[in-house]
Amino acid sequence: MSSLLIVNAGSSSLKFAVYNLPLAEGAQAVFRGQVDGIGADARFFVKDASGDRCHDQELPKGPDLEAEHQAGLDALLDWLDAQKLTLAAVGHRVVHGGANFAAPLRIDASNIEELEKLVPLAPLHQPHNLRPMRTLMRRLPDVPQVACFDTAFHRTQPAIAETFAIPRAITAEGVKRYGFHGSSYEYIARQLPGVIGPRADGAVVVAHLGNGASMCALRERKAVGSSMGFTAVDGLMMGTRTGLLDPGVMLYLMDTRGWGSKELTNLIYKQSGLLGVSGISQDMRTLQESDAPEAKEAIELFCYRAARELGSLAVAAGGLDAIVFTGGIGENSPAVRAGILAHLGFFGVSMDAEANNTRGRLRIDKSDSRVALAVIPTDEEWMIAHHAQRLLG
Ligand code: AMP
Repeated sequence: MSSLLIVNAGSSSLKFAVYNLPLAEGAQAVFRGQVDGIGADARFFVKDASGDRCHDQELPKGPDLEAEHQAGLDALLDWLDAQKLTLAAVGHRVVHGGANFAAPLRIDASNIEELEKLVPLAPLHQPHNLRPMRTLMRRLPDVPQVACFDTAFHRTQPAIAETFAIPRAITAEGVKRYGFHGSSYEYIARQLPGVIGPRADGAVVVAHLGNGASMCALRERKAVGSSMGFTAVDGLMMGTRTGLLDPGVMLYLMDTRGWGSKELTNLIYKQSGLLGVSGISQDMRTLQESDAPEAKEAIELFCYRAARELGSLAVAAGGLDAIVFTGGIGENSPAVRAGILAHLGFFGVSMDAEANNTRGRLRIDKSDSRVALAVIPTDEEWMIAHHAQRLLG
């Protein structure tokens, strides 16, 4: 059986999905899994199509992080071998495509170097995204690889939506708003007509709410604005990331505590968001199950900030015909959806509480709502698999 492997490599994990070829519209992955805890207690596990764990393996400690990443990928490739799966191609999620890569890209040695130049734009993610490409080139030189960029879908944004109010020379270096979660938004844009009909081509705001969270304004199913900016830390409050933060706060901390970029990176990426405000957890489900007032406050702030960003993106979209929820929280938390929509009544939003509480309902608006409300499960891996299949024929 010929298969497609989709790889999403992070700093301490490597997630993957395997699809059978040819890839049909809406096809489910035959296997999904991850190498978890790289740098600590690394494990490699796989779930089959029905979600049952079919492989679980402890990985030995390596001499350094590099070796542990390598060992994780080797464990995955060995496991694929043992399943007698023949890889026809590998698709990679890559966080940053910069200003130039606006479409999926067939990877070769020379354009990996180009992608390497974008590391300063996403130092926490990009190096990890590129590492498996090199390993695969060495280990499976005949298997073609395709990169799909989180930023690519947003390249249709008008210049005004991309521009910070900073001196032109700095903008010219590429310091502008890019936007992320592009494969998720592209997948949702593809599903929209089937769920909301002709309004799909109007002004739509899609909320991808997961551990990382962002929103995208669509017009004619093309991106026209994003809550995320130069990096994936702007916009919404997230699991551990601040989202929008007055840069003056960082100057204050530099002046009063002598903080440098290491401490500030920790603050804005790792210690803030739901975790920082609750002091309990970054996990929405854990917070919803908690009775602590701090957990409630964190959820309220999450919803309030999301509603504020949504208002801003309605301006970018030039109206509000529909709101779509997706991502782990957007798909699974009726309370968060209701909490966000409660701020938006003046837009003519009217939510059907029963539909919102019914798992699997795609539409959650009342018939008199001026704004269509939808919950659409995203599938970033399918989107990447689709591009890999198309690009490689
Ligand atoms: P993601 O990054 O898209 O996998 O989303 C992870 C987030 O989704 C975590 O904060 C989870 O707690 C949250 N999540 C997943 N399932 C649920 C659920 N049933 N209720 C509330 N939050 C959930």
